[in-house]
Parts: sequence; C-alpha cells; structure tokens
Amino acid sequence: MKILVLNCGSSSLKYQLIDMEDESVLAKGLCERIGIDGSKLTHRPTGKDRYEIETPMPNHQVAVELVLQALLSKDHGVIESADEIGAVGHRVLHGGKEITKSCVVTPYVKAVIRECFDLGPLHNPANLIGIEAVEAAMPGKPNVAVFDTSFGMGMEPKAYRYAIPDKYYDEYGVRRYGFHGTSHDFVSHEALKYLNLDPEKGKVIVCHLGNGASISASVGGVCVDTSMGLTPLEGLIMGTRSGDVDAAVVQYITNKEGCTVNDTLNILNKQSGMAALSGVSSDFRDIEAAINAGNEKAIMAMDAYVHRLVKYIGAYNTILKGADAIVFTAGVGENGPMVRRMVCEYLEFLGVKINEEENLKAFGKQVVLSTPDSTIKVAVIPTNEELAIARDTLKLVLAPKAPEMEENDKTENEI
Ligand code: ADP
Repeated sequence: MKILVLNCGSSSLKYQLIDMEDESVLAKGLCERIGIDGSKLTHRPTGKDRYEIETPMPNHQVAVELVLQALLSKDHGVIESADEIGAVGHRVLHGGKEITKSCVVTPYVKAVIRECFDLGPLHNPANLIGIEAVEAAMPGKPNVAVFDTSFGMGMEPKAYRYAIPDKYYDEYGVRRYGFHGTSHDFVSHEALKYLNLDPEKGKVIVCHLGNGASISASVGGVCVDTSMGLTPLEGLIMGTRSGDVDAAVVQYITNKEGCTVNDTLNILNKQSGMAALSGVSSDFRDIEAAINAGNEKAIMAMDAYVHRLVKYIGAYNTILKGADAIVFTAGVGENGPMVRRMVCEYLEFLGVKINEEENLKAFGKQVVLSTPDSTIKVAVIPTNEELAIARDTLKLVLAPKAPEMEENDKTENEI
C-alpha cells in the first residue's frame, strides 16, 4: 500500500508518498506561502528531476489538489491513479487529554483537534484544515491523525502534573504533554532493536536536538518523562526558545518592559535560546564556526546548552534507575559531533565511553558511538517522523477496529 503523509503548517504543506512494501519514498515535496502571494510547489520525485511551480494557492485544498496533480503527472509523477494511495497520514500537534494514540479520523477526532486549538494555536488549526482539504479532494480516502502529544501520554501523573491547584488541570488541561512525540516514539523503538535491548524493559534516553529540542526517558518504548510541557517552550535550551525559566521571569519582564504576557512569551519562544546567548545564530553550524574562531559568547552558549542537556540526562538516568542507552537524533544530534562529544565527556564519570573516530564520522546515519566496555550504550539514530506516521497509518488502516477505537466513533456532540 502507498501512504501519503501530510504535515500542514499555517501557510505550508510538506508531503511524502511512501510505498509501504519496502518503505521507500516515491516522492516528497513542499507547498509554501499558501494563502499569500508567491505560492510555490517544490516536488521531488525519486529518480526523476525536481519540479517547481509558482502558482496561486489561496488555501490548503488547492495545495492538496496541486500535490495530487504532481504525484499523477506524466512527466514528474510517481503513480497513475489516486486509487493507488491507500490512506493519508496527518501530523497533528495536539490531542489534549482526550487522545493517547494515533487514530483514524472521525467527526469525534476532528472535534478533539478543534477543542485543542487553544493548546496548539499555530498548528492545530492548520492540521485540521489539511485533513478537511484531503476529505474534499479525495472523498472516502481513510485519514489517520498521528499526534505529537501521544508519546507523552505514556507518562504517569507524577511526571505530567504541575504542582498547581487541581482546577487548572481539571478545567483547562494544564499538564505536561511533551512534543516531538512521533520522533521520540520512533527513535526509542529503533534503539531497542538496533542496540539489542529488551523490547519490554529496555531503558532509553533520546535526545532530539533540532531547532526545537527535547529529551525523553522511556522503558520498552513507553514514555516515562519528557522535557517539553504544556507547550514546546519547557525543557532544553533550543535554537530560539529559552527552555526552562522561572515562571516569574514572565511577570518580571512584562512589568519592566510594559508589554503584554504574549509579547514576553514571544521573546522566550522566538528571540531566546542559542540565538540570544550566542549573539551569532540559532543554527549550530554558525555557532560551531564562531566557537572555532574563538567567539566567547558562542563558547558560553554551547556550554550552557550542554549543561542543560546533561542536567536532564542525569535526572532521566536516575528516574530510569540506570539507562541502557543514550541516543542522539534530529539535525544537531545526527550531525553535531561537538555537542555529542561534550555531552559524553560529562558522562565519563558514569563509565560512558565513546569512540571519537566514530563520533567524527557519524553524519545522518545509524552509528553506535560507545565502546564495548561503556556502561551505557551511546548511538546516533536518525529520526524519520514521516515514516513513523506512515507506519501508524498503515497499521490502523489494516487493523480490525480495536474496541477502544469505538470511542472515536462518538459524534461531535458527545465529547
Ligand atoms: P527542526 O526539524 O526542529 O526544524 P532539524 O532537526 O532539521 O530541525 O535541525 C536543524 C538544526 O540542525 C539546524 O538549526 C542546525 O543547527 C543543525 N544542523 C544541521 N546540520 C548540521 C551540522 N552539519 N552540524 C551541526 N549542526 C547541524
């Protein structure tokens, strides 16, 4: 079966068509500037030339139709009929407290995605628009929603509750949800296989270090703790996000600047992190170049980044009562030997040892970095969120309906 994977943003749509026979990518691409001037589709069919077209895309439905045309085109297409697409898997940011796993889209599931607009104001509306665009363009095609928050739903209350009055949890769903769940889920399960760990009991720490960054601790692939919270702001230092700060910082800056809470949160989300600390860039390639040139702010920023990261690794190693493996993934994790080396040097006191030659060679591929006598295995495992979404989609489309899925057949009015 071929599965189309869609990741809709407010003005963008990323897609991949995956042949699940061998999990190969038949084509992938991106629609940019949807709803604004200068809309553009870039389509990359495997084994054929890249195709780009600038054409108006007033909304996501037009974008979905253009994607279908590109996939079906004689010159740069990869399928002959839309019937070859067995199902569509959608990346959805937030499923709130209601949804704990990927599910076939029903009116109930759409209503939950809508209910969570407040929790994911930038993503959930676009995710729902994407689902409805496919429903209009390919009526009857099964749609599956794969939630970024599902993995974090594995946490127990002691990990997900903030120590604030019940009312805010009960009435507004204020808890830790965790994000990058599709990636953490995929990489922790890959780690269990790749590193020959017990599939039920293997204890893995995954460091997802991209522009956004988060870390998770899991046992047998089930999340025990993860660093992002109600929103993706909590946790590690990121490209432009501060990660953990004393909540009173928000009040203090807001009062001092005479601005709004939203303005201050915007600063913490978009003007902070490595960009702010280094004064150079949010991109680790620029930061590493600045460090190599002796830039002191960049050196301090990297030290702060690693300090926060090892603080979390230490905490998660304790929560797990001793991790079996630490895995690096995403842009920086897969391509950044400097961060990996600095982290592992901190962990030497625990008996962690890596082979620096392997570390220097590890770019975007699965590699074991640790030496055989290391107390904790260390590896790089590339994430593949699209494949994870396609696998969940296939599983749900092929599976007979599980009893708990009946829940999702509730009508919109029943939630
Ligand atoms: P996201 O999906 O969160 O946007 P990615 O996982 O694609 O982010 O990671 C992007 C980041 O990866 C870039 O900001 C850059 O800092 C980092 N990166 C990419 N390539 C390299 C490299 N060769 N060396 C160091 N960092 C890299």
